[in-house]
Amino acid sequence: MRATVLHGPRDVRVEDRPDPTVEQPTDAIIRLAAACVCGSDLWPYRGADAVSEPAPMGHEYVGVVEEVGSDVRTVKPGQFVVGTFFASDNTCEICRAGYQTHCVNRQPGCTGSQAQYTRVPLADGTLVATPGQPDADLIPSLLTASDVLGTGWFAADAAQAGPGRTVAVVGDGAVGLLGVLAARQLGAERVIAMSRHADRQKLALDFGATDIVTERGGEGVARIKDLTGGLGAHSVIEAVGTQESMLQAIRATRAGGHVGFVGVSHDVSLPGRELFYSGVHLHGGPAPVRRFLPELIDLITSRTIDPGKVFDLTLPLEQAAEAYRAMDERRAVKVLLQP
Ligand SMILES: [Zn+2]
Repeated sequence: MRATVLHGPRDVRVEDRPDPTVEQPTDAIIRLAAACVCGSDLWPYRGADAVSEPAPMGHEYVGVVEEVGSDVRTVKPGQFVVGTFFASDNTCEICRAGYQTHCVNRQPGCTGSQAQYTRVPLADGTLVATPGQPDADLIPSLLTASDVLGTGWFAADAAQAGPGRTVAVVGDGAVGLLGVLAARQLGAERVIAMSRHADRQKLALDFGATDIVTERGGEGVARIKDLTGGLGAHSVIEAVGTQESMLQAIRATRAGGHVGFVGVSHDVSLPGRELFYSGVHLHGGPAPVRRFLPELIDLITSRTIDPGKVFDLTLPLEQAAEAYRAMDERRAVKVLLQP
């Protein structure tokens, strides 16, 4: 098969790899219907995360089940499925509490999905089948459910976005933009997107943002306070993962409010005394996307939401290196790859 492999910083190649096979009786093999590049793939791409290279890339996936191991009960060959970036048994106490990304049997969700085929462990707990074969135009939206939509949704949930609440969103990548969509779906009356890029502001407005703030850092916090009677937002979604973005999120939240942080943390160190006196709730981490998958699939297949709009560039899998460049240089919000 053809698959995307990272050989070193900014060295992405599409090359021949062995077809994945069933290794454990709980595995499934998926033929990918679409793949994509994640903002979090840019950390190893830029050399900011150490990975053992060559590294097969990609952790977001949708496609058709080709083969299952002898213990797999809930998915069958021929079904169209959506999975997530951590495989989970979905039966342990942690999973049943809705925290499948912390499953006691957690493992990587697949063996690289910027490829033609991938192997998914713990298939029964990890994969959710769609009702029948989805229309082709729904596939990009279903692919977002695998990570960026599910992560934005968890951030909105963790920030307790809902009726009567004002939500601010720090970060205008795919997760932040879909956090805007999630906050509106969960009933938030006002959603303030923080972005200084015209194309991303437009997407945020399409997804339901009511206000745009272009300032960042201390000025951004001051603008959020201006817009909320001096108090700060009830709910803040943090979708970047840097020191600046975390402090911006905490400082833009009113006392008693909630921060949902889902940007993968890089060198963030929180000042304890400021945190102590802030009175805000902090909750986040790797999103338990599996908790939300059935609901998200339903919202997409009923055409209630259209998160697939977040893909603003589509390329053949063979051009994965260009997909990485486009996202690295912020020429694209999110790139869809056609296997
Ligand atoms: Zn579990």
